[in-house]
Amino acid sequence: MSKETYPFKDYIRVIPDFPQPGIRFKDITTLLKNGKAYYAAIEEMKEAVQHLNVDVVAGPEARGFVVGAPLALALGVGFTPIRKSGKLPGEIVTAGYELEYGKDQLAMHKDAIEPGQRVLIADDLLATGGTIETSINLVKQLGGEVVGAAFLIELAYLNGRDKLGEIPLFSLMTYE
Ligand code: AMP
Repeated sequence: MSKETYPFKDYIRVIPDFPQPGIRFKDITTLLKNGKAYYAAIEEMKEAVQHLNVDVVAGPEARGFVVGAPLALALGVGFTPIRKSGKLPGEIVTAGYELEYGKDQLAMHKDAIEPGQRVLIADDLLATGGTIETSINLVKQLGGEVVGAAFLIELAYLNGRDKLGEIPLFSLMTYE
């Protein structure tokens, strides 16, 4: 039986040459402001990942919050933020990643995850995979098990999914 899916891509605004020439920026604010589309997106993500028996959802700032937190609520589990360094007030672990120019660092609270917990990482968009790779590194440092990753959007031509290895990946929309 085929399931009719919501026309999610109709709600994504593609802005050429932002924030720099050559980048086609996928603006999700046009989806978020539509209650029905936002709800349908989170519901579909929930259905795709609920078999993973997730204990906690982790999401990198800032757009990982607007996907990860409602997804956590829909799954009936907690949410923990992954933040740029200097933002979290408690004891932290950090991991670095390369940007086009220079380096950046992400951090999690040391007590964000209990050893052995099953963690789903959620974000708005998978591009090169640098953010998800760093997020996986952080969860592993805390002894968590990354059991899946969920995105609204995957830019398939950047091959970010190669960074996930065997970890199951769900993306609601794919751009080839
Ligand atoms: P990456 O670490 O390369 O996978 O990049 C992931 C992050 O960069 C995502 O969380 C997005 O917020 C942002 N990003 C990268 N490319 C785009 C794009 N074309 N449109 C919108 N956001 C993007």
